[in-house]
Amino acid sequence: MQAVSSPAKQTKMEAGFQCAGCGEWNMTSVDASAGGHQRYVEDCQVCCKPNVLRVEYDQASGEFVIAAELE
Ligand SMILES: [Zn+2]
Repeated sequence: MQAVSSPAKQTKMEAGFQCAGCGEWNMTSVDASAGGHQRYVEDCQVCCKPNVLRVEYDQASGEFVIAAELE
């Protein structure tokens, strides 16, 4: 088995964000096929507040970095 590191070959990648409401850490799946710059809303799994997620693909680390803010 060969490890797949390119987002183009993997449709779903795990990434985390810190809830802007309660500060708890959430895990989410980023759809890598949607591109390296994404924006969508996901509810916090702890406090259920909607977080606006700004998703950026970091080529240096090969991971998605997410910044969260409240709507
Ligand atoms: Zn929360």
